[in-house]
Amino acid sequence: MIDPFGRAISYLRVSVTDRCDFRCTYCMAENMTFLPKRDLLTLEELERLCNAFIDKGVRKLRLTGGEPLMRKNVMHLIEALGRRIHDGALNELTLTTNGSQLTRFAQDLYDAGMRRINVSLDTLDAGKFREITRWGDFDKVMAGLDAARTAGLKVKINAVALAGFNEHEIDGLIRFAHGNGMDISLIEAMPLGEVDTDRSSQYLPLSKVRRDLEDRFTLTDLPLDTGGPARYVQIAETGGRLGFITPLSHNFCASCNRVRLTCTGMLYMCLGQDDNADFRAVLRDNPDDDDALHRAIDNAIARKPKEHNFELDDKTARIAVARHMSMTGG
Ligand code: SAM
Ligand code: SF4
Repeated sequence: MIDPFGRAISYLRVSVTDRCDFRCTYCMAENMTFLPKRDLLTLEELERLCNAFIDKGVRKLRLTGGEPLMRKNVMHLIEALGRRIHDGALNELTLTTNGSQLTRFAQDLYDAGMRRINVSLDTLDAGKFREITRWGDFDKVMAGLDAARTAGLKVKINAVALAGFNEHEIDGLIRFAHGNGMDISLIEAMPLGEVDTDRSSQYLPLSKVRRDLEDRFTLTDLPLDTGGPARYVQIAETGGRLGFITPLSHNFCASCNRVRLTCTGMLYMCLGQDDNADFRAVLRDNPDDDDALHRAIDNAIARKPKEHNFELDDKTARIAVARHMSMTGG
C-alpha cells in the first residue's frame, strides 16, 4: 500500500471497543454514552478486515480502544491475528492497555504471539491515580505490570504529561520504568473530544518537559525512526530510553506509515483529519467478497492526506477534532 505521497502504509491501529473500565479525565467524560452494540464491528468482522489489511501489506498491528481487554472474547481475535505472526505475514501484534486486566490476560497474550505491549500510567501515587482515572485501581495495574513481565512481555509505559498534575513526577516515572526494565514515552495532551475538564489548564508542552529534564539528566537523541510522532532519547543516568510523543507537531507527517480503524469500522487515514472510509458497510455489503475489501482499502489509502490540520490554541486548547481518543484509539 503506497499512498499518494509515496509513503508505504504498514501499520494499522485498531480500536476494538469504545468502552473502558476507567474514565481518565483527559480522555472521557465521567458520564459517557457508548455506542450501541449493533454499530460495532463483530469480532469476526474485525478479524476479516485485519486480515485483508495484512494481505495488503500491513506488518504491524496494534489493538487499542477504549480498553481493548474489556471487549468480550477479545482473545479470540488476538489468537486469530497471532496466527498471522506464526505464518510470517505479520511482524508484530501489540496492544495499548490501561493495565487493569493484565493479571488475567498477560500469559494468554504472550502465548498468542504478542511480545511487547504499551501500558498507560500517568502517576505512581495511588490517590492521584484514582483522581486522574476516576475509576482505576492502582494496585491492580501494578500487579498487571508484574504479570506482564513475568509472562515475558516487554512493556513500554505511556504517560500523558499534564500541567499541575504530574509535571513534578516525571523523574519518578522515568526512574520507575527504567529501574524495572521498561521503556517510557511521554505523550503531549491532545484536544480530542469533549471532556468535562478544562483542557487548557492541563496542556504541558513536551519541549518544556525536555528542557526541565536536561537540568538533571543527560539526554542523547536516538536516530530511531518509528514513522510515528515519537522522538527517542537515551538517558545516561538510568540507561533507559525515553520517548516524546507530540502528535500535534507536523514534523513526522512526511514519514507517517499508519492508518487507524475505529470500533465501528471507520478508517481514518490521519488522526488529525475527519476524512474516513466506511469499512463496516463494505464488510456487510460484501460478506463473501474479499476483493471488494481489497479495492476499498486501495481507495482509502489513495485518500491519505499529506498532513494533519490540528489547531491547538494554547490559551483555549480548543477542540480540533470532535471524536474521542477512545473512538480512534490511542
Ligand atoms: N485504554 C487504553 C489505554 O489507556 O492505554 C488504550 C486506549 S487510550 C485512548 C490510548 C492512549 O491514549 C493512552 O495512553 C492515553 O493516555 C492516551 N490518551 C487518551 N486521551 C488523550 C488525549 N486527549 N491526549 C493525549 N493522549 C491521550
Ligand atoms: Fe480508558 Fe484509556 Fe481513555 Fe483512560 S485513556 S479512559 S484507560 S481509554
